[in-house]
Amino acid sequence: MRSFTYSQLPGRVVFGVGAVEELPREIERLGAKRALVLSTPEQRAQAEDIARRLGSRAAGIFARAVMHVPIETAREARAEAKRIGADCAVTIGGGSTTGLGKAIALESELPILAIPTTYARSEMTPIFGITEGGTKKTGRDPRVLPKTVIYDPTLTLGLPVGLSVTSGMNAVAHAAEGLYAQDANPIMSLLAEEGIGALARGLPRVVKSPQDLEARSDCLYGAWLCGAVLGVVGMALHHKLCHVLGGTWNLPHAETHTIVLPHAIAYNAPGAPEAMRRIARALEAPSAAHGLYDLERALGAPLALKDIGMPGGELDRAAELACAAPYWNPRPIERAGVRKLLDDAYSGRRPA
Ligand code: NAD
Repeated sequence: MRSFTYSQLPGRVVFGVGAVEELPREIERLGAKRALVLSTPEQRAQAEDIARRLGSRAAGIFARAVMHVPIETAREARAEAKRIGADCAVTIGGGSTTGLGKAIALESELPILAIPTTYARSEMTPIFGITEGGTKKTGRDPRVLPKTVIYDPTLTLGLPVGLSVTSGMNAVAHAAEGLYAQDANPIMSLLAEEGIGALARGLPRVVKSPQDLEARSDCLYGAWLCGAVLGVVGMALHHKLCHVLGGTWNLPHAETHTIVLPHAIAYNAPGAPEAMRRIARALEAPSAAHGLYDLERALGAPLALKDIGMPGGELDRAAELACAAPYWNPRPIERAGVRKLLDDAYSGRRPA
């Protein structure tokens, strides 16, 4: 066995249908008496429900979370937390809301109790992102890792099918790259394979029947495991490509991950045979790249960059940017291979 180093992240997870009922006990466990509940404007009703469940331990609601945590929103939320004397942030929602909680914790060290309602995974990582002057700055800080996470699949029943699919495949991308990361370790690889398998089993049933609680449970469980992988090990070419495409051409995050994933995996296949074997096994498919592409096609996921706003004339530039200051990768980064990968992803053809 290869030598490895593994740092375990702290955190408590309460998982299950109806787990949100545990909220009063969990907030008491944290010793919090004045919680600020955070959500997006769209999820205000859910935030109000959470405040009701918290009873006298709820001190206020801030329902103004938006994508990418603009610094202005972070400042307003921090000021509100101070104004009401909050001693805890309870987030109900996706990565945008969890991200806002992290922005508060980064400054004040307030503990976060996260209640995720998408498959975004931010709740499992010490990674934060704040957007200032049009640029998203990300970093790692143990203070932003939620102390407690309540996963209740019931709360994901309303997640639209399209978002469930792309958000779920985005989670799979973290686990897939986690299997061949430079700092991969056997513990995270177990979680990664299990997480990919759970999402691959759950997503087709969610597409068929979005109210299927067992399928929703599988997906949320899979997303949790994939998030745990993202929180501990580094990422490679796939994430670099998505960063470049999202950052330069403003392509939507989860859709970009979904489209690029089978192609990045096909590129890396020769450099990471054991990871490919495990991805294929989790997907119950003969090959990792084809298994991912076929799963996405069956789910009705977007398959081509040209369909989500990528300008065709910019593929050369995208290849150049992806090859500049590359992340560590299991296969050396070669411009011609990356350009070919981008061409396949642009047109949405099955990877070679
Ligand atoms: P989101 O949080 O922006 O939510 C998208 C929309 O869906 C919002 O309007 C939200 O209110 C709504 N929504 C959420 N749950 C719902 C539900 N169950 N039913 C109906 N509507 C619901 O989207 P997201 O994909 O969860 O998060 C994306 C953000 O998370 C990005 O900014 C991304 O960078 C960040 N992220 C961060 C990390 C990290 O480790 N820091 C990891 C993954 C993603």
